[in-house]
Amino acid sequence: MGILNTDQQAVLDRIRIVMVNTSHPGNIGAAARAMKNMGVRRLVLVDPATALGDEGYRRSAGAEDILNEAVVVKTLAAGVAGCAWVAGTSARLRSMQWPLYLPRECAQIASENTVPGDVAIVFGRERVGLTNAELELCNALLHIPTDPDYSSLNVAAAVQIVCYELRLAQLGKALPSASSSKKHRDDVPANSEAMQGMYQHLYQMLDEVKFFGTHNPEIVMRRLKGLFNRARTTVHEVAILRGIFSAAQGKKTRRS
Ligand code: SAH
Repeated sequence: MGILNTDQQAVLDRIRIVMVNTSHPGNIGAAARAMKNMGVRRLVLVDPATALGDEGYRRSAGAEDILNEAVVVKTLAAGVAGCAWVAGTSARLRSMQWPLYLPRECAQIASENTVPGDVAIVFGRERVGLTNAELELCNALLHIPTDPDYSSLNVAAAVQIVCYELRLAQLGKALPSASSSKKHRDDVPANSEAMQGMYQHLYQMLDEVKFFGTHNPEIVMRRLKGLFNRARTTVHEVAILRGIFSAAQGKKTRRS
């Protein structure tokens, strides 16, 4: 029981566990162990507070390979570069525009998005979680349903639950039919860089046409990002949107 075939393992190999600015190396080690137990192997460390040291390796209990192969980057944007879908985890239910999912739902969506690109599940700082700016790089929020009076899990425990669901989603999955994976072959969800580029362009255009006026640009942009995330905007749609923005800016587009 629990054995994955190569296609199922290939899906897990496109999933990155991203830990942001983790303070305790022991938590990184414990997360690596949790990942390895579930066959999730790609760890990304964004600006870890301290070096892994003995404590990190000790708590990994034999998952040194995950730690040794972990990719260390400075910013979350670098950590999620090339991802088709990014979920940010949160202990709090923030009243935001991000679609909110259970780990099980996220595992399902994650599995579907490993066709167009990598998927990242992002975990926050032990004390303060993820910032709003970091959440803006995410397409959705993942919340592990807990007792609301005591909702904050240890970060490595949260990694364990999510990785378990990621494995379960693969174990329970029938092999993808050729038709379902080919249906959108020529139009796949836009990746993280394409979306950030589109948002910058949208912002410039709205600024140039003096849309913001008395509205707070940050709030407007956050709401619009929520809209595009819900829609799972594709590469072709981003191209059309950018053409529209250029037209609104009075720039020549290919159509004109
Ligand atoms: N006060 C912080 C708690 C951070 S706990 C906050 O409200 O976000 C450290 C990290 O563990 C979180 O950033 C998240 O990645 C993960 N985590 C803890 N509890 C969680 C929960 N109930 N659901 C999802 N992730 C959780």
